[in-house]
Amino acid sequence: MLHPGLDYLSQPLSSIKGVGPKLSSHLQRLVGHTVWDLLCHVPVDVIDRRHMPALHQAQDGDYITTIVMIDAHQAPVKGARKIPYKVHCSNETGVLTLVFFHYHLQYIQKQLQKGKRYVVSGKVERFHGGLNMPHPECMVPETGLDSVCRIEPIYPLTSGLSNKHVLGALKYILPHVPPLPEWIDPIICKANHWPSWNEALVRLHNPTSPKDLDLKSPLRERLAYDELLSFQLALAISRRFKRLPVGQPMQGKGQLVEQALSRFGFELTSGQQQVLREIKEDQISSTRMMRLLQGDVGSGKTVVALLSMLGAIEAGKQAALMVPTEILAKQHAASITALVSALGVEVALLTGSTKTKERRAILARLEKNEIQLLVGTHALFQEQVNFADLGMVVIDEQHRFGVKQRMALADKGDKVDVLLMTATPIPRTLAMTAYGDMEISSLHGKPAGRQPIKTSLIPLGRIGEVALGLRRVFEKKQRVYWICPLVDESELVDLSAAVERFQTLEQCYGQRVGLVHGKMKAQERDSVMKKFKEGEIDCLVSTTVVEVGVDVPEATVMVIEHAERFGLAQLHQLRGRVGRGKDASSCILLYHEPLSQISQARLEIMRQTEDGFRIAEEDLRLRGAGEILGTKQSGLPDLVFADFNVHYKLLLSARDDARYTLEQDPNLTSTRGVALKQLLWLFDYGYMVEDQEAGRLCPV
Ligand code: ADP
Ligand code: MG
Repeated sequence: MLHPGLDYLSQPLSSIKGVGPKLSSHLQRLVGHTVWDLLCHVPVDVIDRRHMPALHQAQDGDYITTIVMIDAHQAPVKGARKIPYKVHCSNETGVLTLVFFHYHLQYIQKQLQKGKRYVVSGKVERFHGGLNMPHPECMVPETGLDSVCRIEPIYPLTSGLSNKHVLGALKYILPHVPPLPEWIDPIICKANHWPSWNEALVRLHNPTSPKDLDLKSPLRERLAYDELLSFQLALAISRRFKRLPVGQPMQGKGQLVEQALSRFGFELTSGQQQVLREIKEDQISSTRMMRLLQGDVGSGKTVVALLSMLGAIEAGKQAALMVPTEILAKQHAASITALVSALGVEVALLTGSTKTKERRAILARLEKNEIQLLVGTHALFQEQVNFADLGMVVIDEQHRFGVKQRMALADKGDKVDVLLMTATPIPRTLAMTAYGDMEISSLHGKPAGRQPIKTSLIPLGRIGEVALGLRRVFEKKQRVYWICPLVDESELVDLSAAVERFQTLEQCYGQRVGLVHGKMKAQERDSVMKKFKEGEIDCLVSTTVVEVGVDVPEATVMVIEHAERFGLAQLHQLRGRVGRGKDASSCILLYHEPLSQISQARLEIMRQTEDGFRIAEEDLRLRGAGEILGTKQSGLPDLVFADFNVHYKLLLSARDDARYTLEQDPNLTSTRGVALKQLLWLFDYGYMVEDQEAGRLCPV
């Protein structure tokens, strides 16, 4: 059934002739294992190496490619430091000196032999009238001109892997990229001047014009549409078909849930009761639960999740709660154990750092159904973890896990009910596009007795006052989060800002100040967070790594520098770190002046409301759908070719296309339908095709 061309794409890189074990292991770290993974590594820029001027006309700063004869090598005098190695070359149009500051002598001597002709390419400098090329980027024999004189794509890299390596591997792969049957309606292709999939992909890695890489170029749009169409088709299929014929109706007597409720010492809010009813209905019905629970931090989702899991447990099943970080897992395990151990429910904690001996014991007890509730991190979906009878999984902060990881956990049982949770609501109007395959429950409001958080906007110029004002907070034995500016994508820049702020605050408050950042080892970070939780540290300076959900009731002040650089959802998340105890809390948004009108409006919303749903709606109004879907918190898959900002209209067309196509051809048996199945395979939705072909899908 699979198109033979897909075989090649799914081959491991290590098996490709010309790639080799060392290169393939570097590539694997960066892009993944297969040929297709490498093809999905999209270049970020290009260098145009087609410029071949006469040497005497080349200008300072030009990128040039030229063919030259090697006239002489000139090694620096022994012991003379900082003097480069030079290779003098020439051709009919002038002279050129290749200059090497760091070099491997034997390599240069072998690579550039006197009296022979070579193609060299790189940036040139005019120096005392002479023309120099420091560290040429290409040096190959004359016959290699075609491979150099072109538009060269530039790829994102990691240490140990150069652009040349990536280009080298692609050189072997590109000629074998198979043509696949067309899955886009030919009318759409024609109207947009889109090339075929094969042509688009090959040109992405071997551009014929610098414009090819533009996100709006026909070839980029085509590849983006492929990706968005596969995503929307997968959603449409799961909306139209249930993945498995029936779930397991689960019904216990309600005794565990009641006992737990009586131990909580509080009444459920009406929102919580409503959501619990929705979940209960899923549980007792014969269809499998696939539900997303959205609700602000502190709105009481975890309590709802726990009661739902107890519902599964009293029906004789096991339940698992997966969270993104170790510290959260520990926190949940501790609070859940405290609540339910008296009810005779066995709870265990499994994370990456669980010791081997303990881990073995847990796994053994799990298989014998001696543990009913397993809490943990990514460790939960590892292969060795086997349940006796898993009935329900809850995944907190679901956007932190990939679709495959969620499914891997759910697949550890038969027809397992799945409840996903997120503290970043996205507006209703977008939810259908993003999570069309799930039912959605929304938890509004907060448990009674919660103190509101006072939010103020203060210009950065007054940062000194804010820092000094913290003394009063510390005197009240309360704690402070201080979030440092997100300077750009690079963590390094973030880090230096955070370190600097840490040092100034430390000068003021000494040992009371701690620092966490993304470059720290998880263990170190956990240990600082622990100190903050336990009150050894009163002020935690951080880049944006403050883990979602960590509960420190004594923290009452949240300071955010350069608040204008954050998304509203993120600000809202960060603010949710405070206001968890009995004391009044505040959030200080420090902004850089002058604020644009839209930034002003956005920060103003933060001041006006604490309702995450409203914030999400306003964010949508101010920033547009594309930008919101494009953020990490939206829970959407990471896109490779498409960009929600640029291609939002394509997303909408893909959605309509997918729905219409499936109405016409629900089992994808037409010629185009069969081609679309290949598309699903490409983008990791192959399991849907498998389910369908094995008869595991049935119409809703
Ligand atoms: P979330 O998971 O949505 O962040 P939690 O379920 O962890 O929220 O609840 C936050 C805090 O509020 C917890 O300390 C919890 O015990 C408490 N809580 C939850 N529901 C209620 C309620 N109905 N009344 C009072 N307190 C509640
Ligand atoms: Mg929670």
